[in-house]
Amino acid sequence: MRENPTFGIIGAGMSDILAAIKLQEAGYGFTVFEKADRVGGTWRENTYPGIACDVPSHIYSYSFALNPEWSHFASPGAEIQQYFERVAHSYGIDDDIRFSDPVVRCTWTADDRWELETGSGHVETFDFVIAATGILHHPKLPDIEGLDSFAGPMFHSARWDHDVPLDDRRIGLIGTGSTGVQITGALAPRAGHLSVFQRTAQWVVPVEQVAYTEAQKEEFRTDADQLEELHENLQREFNDGFGTSILDGDSEMVDGIEARCRAELAAIPDDELRARITPTYRAGCKRLVISHNWYEAVQRDTVEIVTDAIERIEPTGVRTADGLLHELDVLVLATGFKVDAFMRPMTITGADGVDLDDVWAQRPSAYMAVTVPDFPNFFMLNGPNSPVGNFSLIQTAELQFEYAMDLVGRVVAGQLEQAVPTDEAARRFEEERVEAAKGTVWATGCNSWYLDDRGIPFAWPFPFERFRREMAEPRLGDYES
Ligand code: NAP
Repeated sequence: MRENPTFGIIGAGMSDILAAIKLQEAGYGFTVFEKADRVGGTWRENTYPGIACDVPSHIYSYSFALNPEWSHFASPGAEIQQYFERVAHSYGIDDDIRFSDPVVRCTWTADDRWELETGSGHVETFDFVIAATGILHHPKLPDIEGLDSFAGPMFHSARWDHDVPLDDRRIGLIGTGSTGVQITGALAPRAGHLSVFQRTAQWVVPVEQVAYTEAQKEEFRTDADQLEELHENLQREFNDGFGTSILDGDSEMVDGIEARCRAELAAIPDDELRARITPTYRAGCKRLVISHNWYEAVQRDTVEIVTDAIERIEPTGVRTADGLLHELDVLVLATGFKVDAFMRPMTITGADGVDLDDVWAQRPSAYMAVTVPDFPNFFMLNGPNSPVGNFSLIQTAELQFEYAMDLVGRVVAGQLEQAVPTDEAARRFEEERVEAAKGTVWATGCNSWYLDDRGIPFAWPFPFERFRREMAEPRLGDYES
């Protein structure tokens, strides 16, 4: 291995910006490949009305770039996008990004390097690859008869068409996940009529929308210690407290969340509406939805929660199983993402010509959520089996990056020939992970995007403490020597 190895970074979202900044600080050479024309990942792609962070903004910040300017406890999406653009710019990594040129091929070569090829035909080789292409990335369109026959404007929530007028229109919204609930809150006061097609009721945790005052922001600006303490405390409460307790479906945390939602539901005078939006599974089984305006929105005269199954989509609206045609001007699909895609459809070929598509034919998985056997010196941030939904995604990426860099250091120092886990270690980790996942709240009897093709939660199922420990020190015995 050369003394000054180079890195190819795939994507320019939250985790990639982090990797680029850290590599720059460490003095390594790198190129970032981004298919779009701006950084930001999910926050660039998702611009739907009502989009906001649903974790505290002071957690959703890099530990090295805390932000005194957050406007709200959970700030709007556009502000988060600006934050990532600002951080990328202030660290001067914009110049190292090839925009509008997606990586289409990634091949481990005979001289033990990665050759990356982009859509434009540009080819570059690197010693290491960091792939952080996101999980909520490829929109999933619903498999509903007649979907393409709708005559009005129709788009997925992550492909919002801002040219389409919404005020006083008859809007249909399919989906009541985190996205659908935020859209409902934003469109309810604007739409002439909003038909929300709900397949499964959600536990929607009511929160207040708290804005930081100018005085608070000034304190954060002038007192870096205070800002750091806030970040630390929120991280601890969120990851070690909430994020870890909620893994256990029998925990007091889950009871408490349900009680909070039930209190809100009990205050709805309309028995039928209350029944429609009351879930019948354990809170936390699906990703919890957080909202400051859902309960108010669904009680508006102009909002209808439709629970009859969708039979088909017709040119003028949505036909439900009761035979009713819900006539619409606009149809929004907040139907989620293909969460098992990750880097795909990119072609990724590892040692001995092993194709990642074949390795992941059944389902994606990664040893410790970062590395894959037969794919040497290839690291994923927020990749398969990574903590998702219950821990801070930014802290997760920061810890995973440190883990990757520990391995890189050992390869550079000659302690490891390559950073590649053994098949046996990957199998053992996956077996243990699956056993633990079966005991989590995510497996207590609901349908969700957390479940793989076997109905087993694919995410990191252990407490945050274990994640921190594993990331702090790679088990070298699990890597090929
Ligand atoms: P999602 O959680 O997968 O929700 C998709 C919704 O569409 C569900 O209500 C689902 O119903 C419904 N649906 C899918 N196919 C359908 C069909 N054929 N017919 C009827 N309904 C259908 O997707 P999402 O709301 O976009 O959220 C995905 C994740 O993104 C969230 O869980 C969260 O992690 C993240 N997110 C975060 C924020 C934030 O503020 N940080 C905001 C938005 C999203 P079922 O429930 O019955 O499957």
